[in-house]
Amino acid sequence: GREWHLLSRPVGWPKPEDFALVEAEVSAPGEGQVLVRNKYLSVDPYMRGRMSAAKSYVAPFELGKVMQGGAVGEVVASNAEGIAVGDHVLHFFGWREYAVVAAENAVKVDPEAAPLSAYLGVLGMTGLTAYAGLLRTAAFKEGDSVFVSGAAGAVGSQVGQIAKLKGASRVIGSAGSDEKVKLLVEEYGFDAAFNYKNGPVGEQLRAAAPDGIDVYFDNVGGDHLEAAIGSLNRGGRIAVCGMISVYNNTEPAPGPKNLARLIQTRGRIEGFLVGDHYDLQPQFVQEVGPWVRSGELKYRETVVEGVENTLEAFLGVLRGDNTGKMIVKL
Ligand code: NDP
Repeated sequence: GREWHLLSRPVGWPKPEDFALVEAEVSAPGEGQVLVRNKYLSVDPYMRGRMSAAKSYVAPFELGKVMQGGAVGEVVASNAEGIAVGDHVLHFFGWREYAVVAAENAVKVDPEAAPLSAYLGVLGMTGLTAYAGLLRTAAFKEGDSVFVSGAAGAVGSQVGQIAKLKGASRVIGSAGSDEKVKLLVEEYGFDAAFNYKNGPVGEQLRAAAPDGIDVYFDNVGGDHLEAAIGSLNRGGRIAVCGMISVYNNTEPAPGPKNLARLIQTRGRIEGFLVGDHYDLQPQFVQEVGPWVRSGELKYRETVVEGVENTLEAFLGVLRGDNTGKMIVKL
């Protein structure tokens, strides 16, 4: 089976020469392990961080070794109790066609209950990120006015819709194309949306939220964060989920200039990691699963086919080629 290796640590935008698609032997599962043929791979913005040497909340990818990431596949050989050939599992050994996985690192998923790719997106890691970040970190409550950036992406599109379904007074989103903006308003029910490439974010946000915002869910950082602080109402909360606008920067980005406004507004800004909130997973699936099945919560996926196109799919996420969760189908 083929697998992706990281050869050198990218500086700025990752280049094809930093990676190699390598043929690897498929081994039989040892005691307590299963052999999985991956069907869907997840490519996510946080993987850019793992390509750098800097220590973070997850270890850097090792040079010359296979990269890792979320994946869903079918068990083709099993040497583990409780997991049978033909079962489908979610695991963390992506960026490859076949993976040997210890049973304790595999979670069985039901292909009848939801499309398999949904376990990587709307009902998986990015969905839980939206749910936990909005409800727990940002302490969303009915009547709040909510602004979310990266709003046509996997996390952002779900943040806006969950806020709407839970009684937000106004939901505003920003995204990087007029087509994405149209989708937010016409399909996902956002009250207002703007294309951040069409003009200064601060001005566009003030026009879209004339009465200010109570919650900002930050996927982007930079001028979006600055604009959000500028529009924050008294008691406002900012959940810092990601800052994709700076992931490929080689120089530190200029910081927000209006942090002092947090004093006036008694505003609160707090970072969070989805990994700390898996206790919410059952509640998340119980509440959001029915919305997905009924179509009240809509989602899109951008599907790229072929393991050989995994790197391009990943770069596409950084460029904004995706609407909703970016998925690689093998
Ligand atoms: P998305 O599906 O949102 O894809 C990333 C999107 O970012 C692109 O589609 C692009 O859309 C947008 N983007 C790229 N560059 C810029 C830029 N310079 N300025 C503004 N937008 C940009 O990815 P995810 O939903 O998976 O992740 C969203 C964010 O959440 C990321 O920051 C990620 O790191 C973070 N995250 C954090 C987690 C946590 O535990 N804290 C867990 C999961 C994700 P556009 O066309 O609109 O520019």
